[in-house]
Amino acid sequence: MTLRAGREFLAIPGPTTVPDEVLRAMHRPAVDLYAGPLLALTDSLHRDIARVFRTEGRAYIYIGNGHGAWEASLTNVLSKGDKILVLESGRFAVGWGEYARRMGVEVEVLKGDMRRAVRPSEVEDRLKADKGGSIKAILVAQIDTASGVVNDIAAIGKARQAAGHDALLMVDVVASLGCIPFEMDAWGVDLAMAGSQKGLMMPPGLGFVAANDRARQAHKTAGLRTPYWDWTDRESDVHYQKFAGTPPEHMLFGLRQALDLLFEEGMENAFRRHRLLAEATRRAIDVWAGGQALTFNIVAPEERCDTVSVVLTQGCDPDALRTWCREHCGVVIGHGIGELAGKAFRVAHMGHVNAPMMLGTLGVIEMALGAMGVPHGPGGVAAAISWLGQQVGHGGLKADQVDR
Ligand SMILES: *Cc1c(COP(=O)(O)O)cnc(C)c1O
Repeated sequence: MTLRAGREFLAIPGPTTVPDEVLRAMHRPAVDLYAGPLLALTDSLHRDIARVFRTEGRAYIYIGNGHGAWEASLTNVLSKGDKILVLESGRFAVGWGEYARRMGVEVEVLKGDMRRAVRPSEVEDRLKADKGGSIKAILVAQIDTASGVVNDIAAIGKARQAAGHDALLMVDVVASLGCIPFEMDAWGVDLAMAGSQKGLMMPPGLGFVAANDRARQAHKTAGLRTPYWDWTDRESDVHYQKFAGTPPEHMLFGLRQALDLLFEEGMENAFRRHRLLAEATRRAIDVWAGGQALTFNIVAPEERCDTVSVVLTQGCDPDALRTWCREHCGVVIGHGIGELAGKAFRVAHMGHVNAPMMLGTLGVIEMALGAMGVPHGPGGVAAAISWLGQQVGHGGLKADQVDR
C-alpha cells in the first residue's frame, strides 16, 4: 500500500520546491537578446541580487551552479601560489578550497569537525600568527548543508578585524541566502557566492557572486582570471558580454519572479518563516531522540541551522528510512553525505516551504519510524504543532526574536 499519489515533495537541501509562479514565468518563448525588455531585466536582476546579498558592491550572474560560482570567485581574485585559509565546519568550505588547490593555490585548512561551528577566536589566533600577511583570502560557508551547522559570519568578520589582517573574507551562502540574515557589507564580507536552487526558489542553473571594492581591487592583479568567469568582461555595457554569450533568458524570467515573491513576502518575514519551520522540525527531532536511536549531528543547539536539520541514526538504517518515506508517501528526504553517508538523514526546511509541507514531512518521518520499529520518543509532530501554534499569530516578531 502506498500513499504517494499526488505531488512528490522534495525535503532535500537543494534543489528545492520551485513555486508555480516561477515555473509559469519561465513558460514563454525566447526573446531577442540584443534589444528590448531583456536588457532592463538584466539590469534589474544584477541590482536586486546585490540587494539580497545586502551589498553596495557588484553582483555577477553566471550560467552555472554553486560549483561554478566557486570557480568564478576564486579565479577573479587569486593568483597561482597565493595562500588561503579554509575554515572547516562540514564539507563545503573544504570543497571550495579543494577547487583552489587544483588551480595552484596553497590551501591551509583551519581544522574543525562535522559536529560544530567554526570558532572565531581560532580564526583570530591564526590570522594574528600570520605576521607577514601571507594569507590572501579566508573561505567559509555560512550554512554547511552536510553538517547542518550555521557559522557566525559577523563574528568571523570581527575576528579578522581584531587580528588587523587584510585577507579577503569569502563566504559561501548557497544554503542560506534568502533564508537567514546575511549582511555582506555590515559584516565585512568581501565576496559572497550562491546558487539559484536553494533559498532562491529557482531551478538549478544559475550561480551568483557579489564582490565589494576590496575584492574588485584584488581582481585587477589576479592571475587566475579566465575569459568566461572574468568580471571585467562582464562589466561591459554590451549586453552580450554580461553573460559571456547568450543570456539564460528563461532563468532570468524565473529569477525576476522568484525575487519578486521574496520581496513581496519581505526578507525579514522569510527569515522568520525559516526560523519557525526549522524550530518546529527541531522540536520534533528532539522528541524522537528520546528513543536513543536518533540524535542531532550538531551538538550545540544554537549552532543548528535554519535551512536543514541533520540527524544521526544509531539504531536504524537512514537510507531504508528515506526509501520508506519516498516509496510509501512521496516525500524525498536527504541522505548523509561525506563521512555521514549511511549514518544520517537530512530534512531540509529551505526556500518555498510552509507549515503543511513541513508538518506533512515530519508526519511521514514519524510514520516511518513507527512502521519500521525504530525506537523513538512519541509525539514529535504533536510537539512541533503545539509550538508552532503558540508562535504563529504573534505578528511583527523578527527572526532573532523567535524562541528557540
Ligand atoms: C549545495 C551547496 C553547494 C553546491 O552547489 P551546487 O549548485 O550543487 O554546485 C555549495 N555550498 C553549499 C553550502 C551548498 O549547500
